[in-house]
Amino acid sequence: MKIEHDMHTHTIYSRNHHAKNTIEEMVEQARKMGLKAITISDHGRNHPFYGIRPKNLPVMRAEVDRLNRKYDDIDVYLGVEANLIGSDGEIDIGEEERKYCDVIYAGYHFGYLPNTAANFFSFLLPNLAAQFIPPLRKKRRKKNTDAYVRMCERYPLTMITHPGDKMPIDIPRLAEAAQEKDIILEINGHHDHMDADEIRAAAPYDVRFAVNSDAHAVSQIGRTGHAGENIRKAGIDPARVINVSFDDETGVEGQDKAGEACRQ
Ligand SMILES: [Zn+2]
Ligand SMILES: [Zn+2]
Repeated sequence: MKIEHDMHTHTIYSRNHHAKNTIEEMVEQARKMGLKAITISDHGRNHPFYGIRPKNLPVMRAEVDRLNRKYDDIDVYLGVEANLIGSDGEIDIGEEERKYCDVIYAGYHFGYLPNTAANFFSFLLPNLAAQFIPPLRKKRRKKNTDAYVRMCERYPLTMITHPGDKMPIDIPRLAEAAQEKDIILEINGHHDHMDADEIRAAAPYDVRFAVNSDAHAVSQIGRTGHAGENIRKAGIDPARVINVSFDDETGVEGQDKAGEACRQ
């Protein structure tokens, strides 16, 4: 399986050297590897350790536009991987920042700053605690899924990154919400979520999937980890994975339907 459009990559614009390379270096490497497209998607601003500085978004936009003019063998898109920061489904990107982006993704990460004190106590802390106290997980599952569903309703998201990673969620309910708004579910090549069980749980819903590297350095572009194996185990129609080609008998090759999603 080969990623044709790596839709989820990070650059030096994620703060504190969280990712290693410039936008141009990422694009150069993607070209060398023969990718059709790459999306730069640094972390949302509420992450104090690796969030973007909003003032950099116009700079990033100009750089992406320059590279699109410079190269005609690859499409470059700009997005943000926003953080889900509250039980009300809030994410950390404003209207003003969104206008610089082709796409908005959202996912859950540890270490972000919640939008309100209430969300600190009712969302961040219990989710952290659930990492260490398994009996708490079941209760968190419903609350977290409510937050994800609310997020899908509130924002024009293109993709949810690594669903199921870092907090328990009810995949069928999330897939139903994603189906409603045509939001892509990510099979992340680094975090191993969605895993085979999660893909299988989402499969009955009319949702599309994408496999992405979540590269934080040029050496990681195109990384698929266990994604191919998980897709095979889950037994879904490979054509539902919109940004990859398969090197086997599936006959699905060279597709980048993700580009359409990015241009919408
Ligand atoms: Zn992430
Ligand atoms: Zn990421």
